[in-house]
Amino acid sequence: MLNRLSGNERAKRAIKRMLSLKRVPGVLLFSGEDGVGKKLFALEIAKALNCMSPEDFEACDRCSSCQRIADITYPASDDTEANKAIIWSSHPDVGLIRTAGRFIQVSQMRLLEKETNFRPYEGRVRFFIVENADTLNEASSNALLKTLEEIPPTSHIVLLTSKLAKLLPTIKSRCQIIGFSPVPRKEIEEVLKNLNLTSDKLGVLACMAQGSIGRAMNTEVEKYCADRLEISQLVEAIVKSDLEKVLRFSESLSDPKKKDDYELRLGILETMLRDLWLIKIGDQEERIINRDLIKQLTSYAQHTNTQRISTWMKRIEEIRQQLNVNINRKAATDALLLSMT
Ligand SMILES: [Zn+2]
Repeated sequence: MLNRLSGNERAKRAIKRMLSLKRVPGVLLFSGEDGVGKKLFALEIAKALNCMSPEDFEACDRCSSCQRIADITYPASDDTEANKAIIWSSHPDVGLIRTAGRFIQVSQMRLLEKETNFRPYEGRVRFFIVENADTLNEASSNALLKTLEEIPPTSHIVLLTSKLAKLLPTIKSRCQIIGFSPVPRKEIEEVLKNLNLTSDKLGVLACMAQGSIGRAMNTEVEKYCADRLEISQLVEAIVKSDLEKVLRFSESLSDPKKKDDYELRLGILETMLRDLWLIKIGDQEERIINRDLIKQLTSYAQHTNTQRISTWMKRIEEIRQQLNVNINRKAATDALLLSMT
C-alpha cells in the first residue's frame, strides 16, 4: 500500500492515479536524492500490478505475489560478476539491475531487453527496476534506448536516479519523470521511533538524514556520534588555524585502516562547515544539521568568516570529485587541510 510509505505525497498521488486509471507508463524515471524511497515506490507499483487481490488498485501486501516481490536478496555491492546478472526478487517477473563496477554494462542492458520481451511467467506484467541510472555510460544508454522505445505492453521499466542531469537527453525524453523530494524531518522521526533509540540519538539521526530515510536507517548512530566528535575537534583546529593539530587529524582522516570511512568523515566535515556558514549568515536553525552542537559551532563561527568557509567547502567538493579517480588520499588530505588553515 502506498500509504505505508513516508513522505512524497505528490509522487504518491501521481502513482495512485496511474494505477486507478490503469495507465502506468511502460517506462518511468524516478528522480530524487538517495534514500527518499524511490525504490520502495517502484516496488509498490510492481506489487500493485501483480497483486492477486488488489485493494483500490493498490497492493494488498498479503498475497503470495506481493510478499515475494518484496523479498529481494542483494549480492555484495563489490561482487561485480553477481551484479552483472539481473537480481531477481522471489517473484519470477520482478527483477532489478544495478551498477556492476563503475557503470551499468551493455551486457546488462541486453539482458534487460531479452527479459522485457518475454511474456510474464505468472504475474500480469514483468517489472524491472534500474538503480543508479546515472551510471549508464554512452554504450549502455544506447543499448537501453531500443528497449525503452519498443517495450511490450506487458513489461515495465522504472529507472531510478539521484543525478538526473547525468542521464542522456535521449533517455530522459523517453521516460515519464516523477520527482521525489526529501522526507520531512518529522516523518523521519516517526519512522526512527521503531528503532528504540534515546531521544538525543534519534534527534541526531533525524537531522543527519537530511530527508533520506535510507541514510538514517543505514547509519550506526554510536559510530557516527564518535566520528562527529572527532571531526568537531578538527573544525575547531581549522578555524583557529592550529596547524599542528590539523596535521594530526589529517593522519587520522587518511588512515588506510579507516579507508571505508573516509568519505563518510569527509561528509561530516562538510555538514559542519555548512552549519558554520548557516550560523554566520544567521539562517534559521531549521536547516542546521548538527543542531545539538549549535553552541559549540557558534563559538567556532566567531573565529572565521563566510568567505573562508565557502572556499573550504569548494575544496572538499574538489576532493570528492577526485575520489572517483585513484588519488593518493594521504597527500590529498594533507593538501586539503593545509589549505584550510
Ligand atoms: Zn497482493
